[in-house]
Amino acid sequence: MSQQNNNNERQSMLAENHPLNQIKRTVAVLSGKGGVGKSMVTALLAVYMQRTGKYRIGVMDADITGPSMPKLFGAEEFTPKTTDQGMFPVRTHSDIQLMSINLLLDSPDAPVIWRGPILGNVIKQFWNEVIWGDLDFMFLDMPPGTGDVPLTVFQSLPLDGIIIVASPQELVSMIVKKAINMAKMMDIPIIGLVENMSHTVCPNCGKEIALFGESHTAQVAADFGIPYLGSMPIDPDLARLADEGHIERIHKNFLTDAIEALEKLPVHGVSYVEKDAEELDKKNSQNQSEEKPQEGEKVRIAVSIEAGEVSQHFGHCEGFQIIDIENNTLAKEEFMANPGHKPGLLPRLLHERQVNVVIAGGMGGGAVDMFNENCIDVITGASGKLTDVVESYMAGTLVSSESVCHEHQHADSCGDNHC
Ligand code: ADP
Repeated sequence: MSQQNNNNERQSMLAENHPLNQIKRTVAVLSGKGGVGKSMVTALLAVYMQRTGKYRIGVMDADITGPSMPKLFGAEEFTPKTTDQGMFPVRTHSDIQLMSINLLLDSPDAPVIWRGPILGNVIKQFWNEVIWGDLDFMFLDMPPGTGDVPLTVFQSLPLDGIIIVASPQELVSMIVKKAINMAKMMDIPIIGLVENMSHTVCPNCGKEIALFGESHTAQVAADFGIPYLGSMPIDPDLARLADEGHIERIHKNFLTDAIEALEKLPVHGVSYVEKDAEELDKKNSQNQSEEKPQEGEKVRIAVSIEAGEVSQHFGHCEGFQIIDIENNTLAKEEFMANPGHKPGLLPRLLHERQVNVVIAGGMGGGAVDMFNENCIDVITGASGKLTDVVESYMAGTLVSSESVCHEHQHADSCGDNHC
């Protein structure tokens, strides 16, 4: 089958995301066979990325028949909350969002012996029925191997990149080559190849011992034209922390090359990193001046709050502080309790209350669109005390972390304007 056909087929099979989700980069961690440390690498990537403090991270345990993520994170007893709108992932000790079939089964020890199509459906449900909200990175622990189930995942979810994990023994076989070829055929960018369990470090002298002889991983990666992202030793601390469910306590810095590569991964193939940085700066400075209320202007803002601070979970905040700003001073304010979480309800209610701008922490792209359709601008990425945020809004220094349509503010510049 040609690559073009593959792409078309893949596009048509992609699952719709939940309307409240906006997932910027979805990265699958794949291996040619089980037991090489794919789950370990997935968990560590999530932990290290979360530690940077820059990103919102989610982990989907797509290894439905061998789920191990809850155990690694010590989250086996956690229960996902369910609402009319869908299910929420659990939050690990360091606030990584996690969903796994193990969190849903009555008896997590029972083997999952469902067939391929059902497994594929579960993964789709993890995508379109789970409310992940805004994520910068979603890591998928893939089913092992190159069979039907990983193929279904590849076809069902819009992946932005793949990291392949291999052990030294696997490298000499055809297995890792199959995995690389599978990823290439699906036309999903390969971020690189990580070698796991390549060596160990002598606890007495600190010398590296190559257990399987000289490593050929870098050469294999070069032969396939994919980046080599370094190797990780067999490490007793890793094994212990994994067994204890404390992987988030890892104090050693493995996978630094992989983290560096992930930080450069563009959002859905569009790099904002270098090419668009200048444009983005320009846009931000324009936004700043647009967001600052002008002399004589009246603006009604609604800030989603939780315990006096901007809520990071917009749909689940305590309520909204609705504030009138006139001539750039605070004229009036009142509190509106959160009426509950139904799609479209809040945009309508706040529109009826003549709110012009909503300020929130995180908010899904679907919700932003609904506000914009109701003639309400959205500023996301705000955090901290309500008073400070309102002050920076009035000073014109509050910048949205997401792209927001500002055109609705200006009746004459909005193409399809009904506001
Ligand atoms: P896979 O997901 O590929 O099946 P796992 O991540 O579950 O593999 O790893 C298999 C076993 O090896 C687990 O018990 C895991 O804790 C352990 N393990 C994986 N990588 C390492 C490592 N670098 N050092 C020590 N133990 C490891």
